[in-house]
Amino acid sequence: MNEQVFQRVLQTLAERRDADEREEQRRLREVLDKCPEVGTLMEERRNAVLGSVYGAFSTPVVDDLPERVETWNAQIRAQLIKNGFPEDYLEPVFQCSLCEDTGFTGSSRKALCSCAKALYAQLVEAEGGFDEDQTFERFDLNVFPEEPVSENGVTQRQLMQVIRRRCEEFAEALPHPAQKTLLLYGGSGLGKTYLLRCIHERARRRGVPALCVTANQLIRTARKATFSRDQSELDDLYETELLLIDDLGTEPLIENVTVEELFNLINERQNDGMCTVLSTNLNLSELKRRYTERVVSRLLDRQHCQALHFLGRDIR
Ligand SMILES: [Zn+2]
Repeated sequence: MNEQVFQRVLQTLAERRDADEREEQRRLREVLDKCPEVGTLMEERRNAVLGSVYGAFSTPVVDDLPERVETWNAQIRAQLIKNGFPEDYLEPVFQCSLCEDTGFTGSSRKALCSCAKALYAQLVEAEGGFDEDQTFERFDLNVFPEEPVSENGVTQRQLMQVIRRRCEEFAEALPHPAQKTLLLYGGSGLGKTYLLRCIHERARRRGVPALCVTANQLIRTARKATFSRDQSELDDLYETELLLIDDLGTEPLIENVTVEELFNLINERQNDGMCTVLSTNLNLSELKRRYTERVVSRLLDRQHCQALHFLGRDIR
């Protein structure tokens, strides 16, 4: 788990608890405005509890306090219902009842709550899937089978060793790799997205400005820019030093928008000497069918593009 993202999860949870508390106070004011009797009952209950605490130091007291508190609670609930509030309206407010918005569950609050895990995933997703766990250093070749994937007997693991090295060399050479475009293609579950994120992580660590989007987000951004005066988001995709486009081929094909936008983007980025990494589950002939010969031959132009073909068995 990424420490920085995790800190933001804790921060968000702290803000949630603040908001919970503000909501509790707001509800209390609302109730007291409408129904001052509740205030009187709460005051009596409070005095009884305090009296009992101080009393415990001096004289032995008959401990019927829990029963008495419950009587006041019942009267408060009755007042709430009478005034049209839910009977638990003054109970503590939480978004997550499992962890009471602390983010942790269990008796000693050690286990991460599902709400905190979901928050973590959301933050990672919002950063374009960026997760520092996915690095070249942590890339584990052992998850790939030692089964031949080509006629000359190269195994999937050996192939991945070569591909990983090529990707790392590309990332290390940024912003001036020999070929500015890198295409990762092959079936699903072969490690393409993982390596794309490794490149992203390395670029960040080396201080190369990078943006990572799914093809779907890219097309959405392009469409949004068509209908609005604000081009800044789309401009960012044209201007960032390194653009990583994940899952090319899963975006909707919208008349000319998709193909044209993609062509313009790749073309301009190549002309401007910018670096682009693309991953796709499509093979080369499927790419041509989907994006036309013109786009794909521009994309795959050997002078500008290194294409890495992933082969083998789905490891997920
Ligand atoms: Zn929770």
